[in-house]
Amino acid sequence: MWLVWGIYVKRRRGSIKQLILIADMEGASGIFEENRSWNWNGGDDWREHGRECITSDALAVITAANDFGIDDILLYDGHFAGNPEFNIILEKLPSIVRVFDVTDRCFDWRRIRGQAEQNPFGIITFGQHARFGEENAYFSHIIQSPPIRNLYWNGRHIAEIGSAVLSFHNVPYLANIGCAASMREALELSDKIVTIPVKDIAIGWEPSPQETYPIIYDGVMKALRNAENAGRRGSGPGTLEVNDGTHSFSMELCDGYVFDTSASISWKGIIEKNKAEWDAPSVEIGLELFNYVRGLLREEVRP
Ligand SMILES: [Zn+2]
Repeated sequence: MWLVWGIYVKRRRGSIKQLILIADMEGASGIFEENRSWNWNGGDDWREHGRECITSDALAVITAANDFGIDDILLYDGHFAGNPEFNIILEKLPSIVRVFDVTDRCFDWRRIRGQAEQNPFGIITFGQHARFGEENAYFSHIIQSPPIRNLYWNGRHIAEIGSAVLSFHNVPYLANIGCAASMREALELSDKIVTIPVKDIAIGWEPSPQETYPIIYDGVMKALRNAENAGRRGSGPGTLEVNDGTHSFSMELCDGYVFDTSASISWKGIIEKNKAEWDAPSVEIGLELFNYVRGLLREEVRP
């Protein structure tokens, strides 16, 4: 009760320290090529082993945030979005954590952004994998690859980390945790972040979740302290430069997939066989249109 009241007062004063967490799973500690089935949401290996891995990473982040003095944590668990079952074992998380209210964990970014404070303390991504085509990456893909080969926003190659961070573009991006190869996309979004790899194909480093727990804890603590020292709130270093101009998006497909161009639609953009381009007045609308463009893709039928 007092906790709730305290948060209410802080929220009224605008002094609440809210942290946004965006989780995926392919970049979790302890999940590698040879045990890839641990990623498969709904399967036995996922239930028995995989969920423990991503929950360990989540607890390392959350414990550091709690010790640092974060008041409120909002979590989005986006792996296998569309499936209602959470990957992270929510019963193991402390009460400081709330999950975003979205149907079946779908990445409805505007609905997610709308539930957060106007000026959260920061955003941290964890369990993250690299973009499709990155070298030395575990399970690299973009939402789903194939069919999706790439996704660009104003000439920048964004994938899942990018979609999340862009949706919170006035919020300081503090840290990325996951596959070492996922750091490239994260650093392209902000070179001020703390990078916390938990596995690295390039050097054959495959530690257990127990081994990465203190690494994650220390890295997150450093990221939160950096943010506080820099006084980053609302704007300034660590937030993305997103201007008011046009937001141009494009998406290309992998071989064997095509866009259905037969439907006559009024589209502000170009949809070709393997590529779609669309413009939007805001980054949020552009990301929402991505879902509709994606709805037009089909497996190619070869005669
Ligand atoms: Zn995933």
